[in-house]
Amino acid sequence: MGAGLSCSPRIRPCERLSRFSSIRIGGPVSAVISVSGLPEMEEVFSLRSREEIPGPLHFVGRGSNILFPDRGLEGTLVRLEAADLSSACRWREGGEVYVEAGYPLPALAREAARRGIGGFEFLSGIPGTVGGATVMNAGAGGREWASLCRSVTIMTPAGSLETLPAESMAYGYRTSLFGRKRPSGPEETGSGHLPEGSVVVGALLSGFLARPEECQAGLARHLEYRKKTQPIDEPSLGSVFRNPSKGPPGYTAGRLIEEAGLKGEFRGGVMVSRRHANFFVNAGGGCERDFRELLDYVSSRVREHWGIVLEPEVKVWNA
Ligand SMILES: Cc1cc2nc3c(=O)[nH]c(=O)nc-3n(C[C@H](O)[C@H](O)[C@H](O)COP(=O)(O)OP(=O)(O)OC[C@H]3O[C@@H](n4cnc5c(N)ncnc54)[C@H](O)[C@@H]3O)c2cc1C
Repeated sequence: MGAGLSCSPRIRPCERLSRFSSIRIGGPVSAVISVSGLPEMEEVFSLRSREEIPGPLHFVGRGSNILFPDRGLEGTLVRLEAADLSSACRWREGGEVYVEAGYPLPALAREAARRGIGGFEFLSGIPGTVGGATVMNAGAGGREWASLCRSVTIMTPAGSLETLPAESMAYGYRTSLFGRKRPSGPEETGSGHLPEGSVVVGALLSGFLARPEECQAGLARHLEYRKKTQPIDEPSLGSVFRNPSKGPPGYTAGRLIEEAGLKGEFRGGVMVSRRHANFFVNAGGGCERDFRELLDYVSSRVREHWGIVLEPEVKVWNA
């Protein structure tokens, strides 16, 4: 890494991935760069092309859906942020908004509600970014990202911008074109891929005109429901498994796990939450190995008990 770069406040050499993960798990990484806005993203690609930062580049938002490896990653973790919320979100007439990829989802939900734009309320308790939601087709309470998304803007490693219509995103239940294995990145469970080495830099979204009080009430309902049902004050990655398409009607992955008697099971420092059985929490000192062992154990017990094979929703990154 170039000597000048390690002096930059936004580039941190020799970091731990656990600092950038909502479950606080993950080993060493050669460098971490925080990026906000297009010029900084262009700069990252240009630094990489001059080999001034180590490759490959791994793009993340809040790391709220990624299990990082204990033994770490080679290359640079590029963390998308929104340094200035007001300039990272450009509202237009009629409920349309262009939002940069690093923008936090709860802040977006609040801003939409304040402006009387409906449809964004479900994002209020999802602790990720616009980029992560674009890749994951994040959803809650029967709504999902695809219902808001009109187009997605990506930047290629050459620094050029491309805008892809939402119809080309292949959105499905927590999947998109972008979720597939990225040739330049680590292997992931899941499917889909970005055009090679590209990053999501923003999305055009649209909601509907509504009364601000109604939006605020919707926001409060979503947050209240989460507080009651999810371990939101403990480190986790949200839902570990996707809800299955087979099984008793209305049975979520959480209910299958709970009724198999697995709440409170643990491996090392990682535990099946007592509040929501589809959440694994880091109860202290948990690591990737603990998480994977618990994941395998819970899958096999659910298979024995219900005859259903659960699939992970979290992205498991292999070193
Ligand atoms: C307490 C809690 C509650 C949750 N509740 C929900 C919920 O209700 N619904 C739901 O869908 N999810 C939920 N999640 C999971 C998670 O918050 C979402 O999947 C979110 O969309 C991930 O956003 P992120 O910015 O953290 O993405 P990350 O976890 O950082 O990344 C996820 C994937 O997207 C890729 N990625 C991220 N940004 C970019 C980018 N700009 N360009 C290219 N690739 C990118 C990463 O490489 C990775 O493959 C929850 C998580 C927690 C911890």
